[in-house]
Amino acid sequence: TLEKAEAFLKSHNDSGSLVLQNFVGNTFVSSSQPTHDLNTINPKTCKPFAKVPLSSASEVEQALQAATIAFKTWSKTTRETRSKYLQRVAQLIQENRELFAIWESIDQGKTLARARIEVDRAISNFKYFSTFILHTQTAARMVDNVALTYEHRSPVGVFALISPWNMPLYLLTWKIAPCLAFGCTAVAKPSELTSMSAFLLCEIFQRAELPSGVVNIVFGDGATTGAALVRSPLVKGVSFTGGTETGVRIRRETADQVWKHLSLELGGKNPTLVFEDVEVGRAVETAAMAAFENQGEICLCGSRIYVQSSMYDDFVSEFTAYVTANYRCGGRVGAVVSVPHYQKIRSYLELAEVEKATFLSGSIPPANPQEGLWIEPVVLTGVSTSSRIMREEIFGPVVTIAKFETEEEAIELANDNPNGLAAVLLTKDGARMRRVGEQIEAGLIWVNCWLVRELGTPFGGMKNSGTGREGGEYSRDVFTNVRTLHIPM
Ligand code: NAD
Repeated sequence: TLEKAEAFLKSHNDSGSLVLQNFVGNTFVSSSQPTHDLNTINPKTCKPFAKVPLSSASEVEQALQAATIAFKTWSKTTRETRSKYLQRVAQLIQENRELFAIWESIDQGKTLARARIEVDRAISNFKYFSTFILHTQTAARMVDNVALTYEHRSPVGVFALISPWNMPLYLLTWKIAPCLAFGCTAVAKPSELTSMSAFLLCEIFQRAELPSGVVNIVFGDGATTGAALVRSPLVKGVSFTGGTETGVRIRRETADQVWKHLSLELGGKNPTLVFEDVEVGRAVETAAMAAFENQGEICLCGSRIYVQSSMYDDFVSEFTAYVTANYRCGGRVGAVVSVPHYQKIRSYLELAEVEKATFLSGSIPPANPQEGLWIEPVVLTGVSTSSRIMREEIFGPVVTIAKFETEEEAIELANDNPNGLAAVLLTKDGARMRRVGEQIEAGLIWVNCWLVRELGTPFGGMKNSGTGREGGEYSRDVFTNVRTLHIPM
């Protein structure tokens, strides 16, 4: 596959001739209903370049059977063995780093520079969990000198790993690596919009000689493939990253399967708070990066900027100039992922016009894009706090700027949203970092920085942004069952 993909890449002519296959039991399996295959497009040209199988419930079932059989032996392998496999996978992705990055950029629309960062993070995911499992222990305790108690952990079973389209390889490997490391087996499903990097990953697993069935990848959409996967009784846990609506549906569809482990990483509408004690230039750089990296298509993007009134005018003019100079389509900004997503972003910009918001940069893009799904970064002011533009996740290159007077008001505005994934705090005042930071209703708070990640820290959201945390020992909680043993002494 890697060679074929490379050859295809060289002759890449948007001909639509690449056909993806599922990966089940370490073999590539052609779609049983090729006429149902989905087209996937290059967002930078709007041209289809590959066909993605729409896997049926029975194809999903075959993959689940393979994972169920593999679990019997994989769950009993030593952590050293699992660690070596994960190291090998990391090494093989490393050797094909550029190929992954180029395909991710073609498939998702992101810039090549951004794609390279994400491939490196995918490699880190495997490296991190390959060593994490070698160094974790549980402690035994004596209770009143009468009983010894200890915690015993065992892998949960087969997991459904479902990921979105914004950081395809990085987010899928953030699930696959801990799942395998902790002794579970997987049936993974990438987004139907961005399946290429998962397809390349199948070849990596085959080359790493992972035992058959330990990781299986099925392609397809949410309604057919994803729903069949989530609901199956063979699936003992679901690790899902995607939209809040889908997360709600997964909770509902699995409500009677109380034993099923659920980890849900959902949407965000994250605030950036700029206090008057900061240096404007640095605040502008951080706020702009948080707003527009990956075209604003990162769940952690800061799409609501609130600035303290005394520096509001300075910030707004410097921010607009900085964005105009540094964030241009084809430069630091890629194309947005799909036509429906382009139209969704566009509809919010039409609403901004109706609501008489001020466009300080960017404008409403053409209704019928022919030459790529490009949207120049949009900076809006004059948007009401009750507007859908302020309340709903747009997930594109659109940011609003508004004013606050006091610290209390800043906290209130930041928390005035049903989501609670992340926030950025820009201030030099150490006491304020804590005072404000500890009151923000979000799982991740970045102070004077953005997107800094340490893979052991808990990752996840409050409120509508999700259930549970992943990362280091939090991922261990997702993928293992805990039993406590009490032994009288
Ligand atoms: P989505 O919810 O539409 O799809 C995500 C995945 O779920 C896809 O693979 C899709 O095919 C699948 N799916 C859809 N319906 C399903 C169903 N009924 N059962 C099972 N699977 C189903 O989300 P999206 O549009 O691909 O991604 C964008 C969203 O993801 C945004 O809301 C963004 O904030 C969120 N996101 C969150 C995080 C996080 O870590 N919290 C990270 C990245 C993206």
